Amino acid sequence: MTTVRSSLFLACTFMTMLTSSLVSAHGVIPKQSFDEAPRQIQFPDTAEFKTLVLDPHTHSSFSDGHVWPSVRVAEALYDGLDALAITEHLEWQPHRADLPHPDRNRAYEIALQANGDNELMIIPGTEITRALPAGHINALFISDANKLVKHPELEDQTDVRAYYQGASEWPAQEAVNAANEQGAFLFWNHAWWGSDFPNGIPKAPKFHKDNAKRNLIHGIEIANGDSYSEESFQIALDLDLTLIGVSDIHGLIDWDFVPHEGGHRPVTLVLAKERSQASMREALFEGRTVVWFKNLLIGRQDNLQALLAASMSVKSATYKTGSDILTVEIENVSDAAFQLQNMSGMTFGGSADIVDIEPHAVTTVAVRTVKRLDQLSMKFTVLNALTKPKKAAKFKLYIDKIEAL
Ligand SMILES: [Zn+2]
Ligand SMILES: [Zn+2]
Repeated sequence: MTTVRSSLFLACTFMTMLTSSLVSAHGVIPKQSFDEAPRQIQFPDTAEFKTLVLDPHTHSSFSDGHVWPSVRVAEALYDGLDALAITEHLEWQPHRADLPHPDRNRAYEIALQANGDNELMIIPGTEITRALPAGHINALFISDANKLVKHPELEDQTDVRAYYQGASEWPAQEAVNAANEQGAFLFWNHAWWGSDFPNGIPKAPKFHKDNAKRNLIHGIEIANGDSYSEESFQIALDLDLTLIGVSDIHGLIDWDFVPHEGGHRPVTLVLAKERSQASMREALFEGRTVVWFKNLLIGRQDNLQALLAASMSVKSATYKTGSDILTVEIENVSDAAFQLQNMSGMTFGGSADIVDIEPHAVTTVAVRTVKRLDQLSMKFTVLNALTKPKKAAKFKLYIDKIEAL
């Protein structure tokens, strides 16, 4: 009896798993609410812009990734992304013997179909893949990936390396020009790659300097997977390139970034006028991004300040009866655990000069103001927010209404 009951229970559990499975037999991910998933990446809109969460660099089995494009879509929905690009290597096609790939738009089309009527935006993109000086360059918002690879004589080449060698003979500059003709947004990927710069310190080759100057390459990754490159950040500032953070995921997001334990993929937070691909594209060209990498926010001064101001606010400020110590409640509506260093003359009770502001929570700080004040400006350095290499952002919390009990 027990055995029968157990197997019935198992059968029911199995059926439940089947019916709630994310990816249906038709490859369409059912529209459902992912909003409750605790792993959702959440940052508030700024006063002026919508904060859109973008991962602009991922792979599927159509190049050297290990999953079908629909899995990328499911991961993106679980992570609460606003936009995803699957950017297959055009020339590096290690699965071509098993997965002939005559149409380079297939990963995008399959992702689009899998996404169905979910709100996630799927951005058509690809990765132009060369050795230095070009290195790897992603192109987003393309209209046809097939026009960005030249390989007619290589159609029957089954040797993966020989195919790559042949396909990458098409000059990178021509591929970059062709992507620009499609109106694409282009960025230089993982410049600090060990195979290109064994010491991990990239230097911009003439190719990138010239293309940046001619406005043919528009951004540069400063965070990719589990690594951050301060030198790439400096190249971005020197060449006036948009700051980009990406997962460059090949396996599974869950394996690489363990979101169930609080991790997250690196993403680009795009400050866009509207929630649309056109608006996101405009913002990327204008450089309105902040990179979210581990517990670090990295962005140009204006963009980062706007995001910090939207993330943290004073919920209340009170002198309790009989005390001249001010109790300040700081609310944080973002995913970042901010580390605020006190830059004011006053001292804090309950913590030293560094206050941890928990994500999606209210943190109480006791401020010794010496005597009761009517208003107060609290000055901080945000240790985990960078406006330049090694330069942490300044941040002020202004309190114009202090309650006295
Ligand atoms: Zn690459
Ligand atoms: Zn890649």
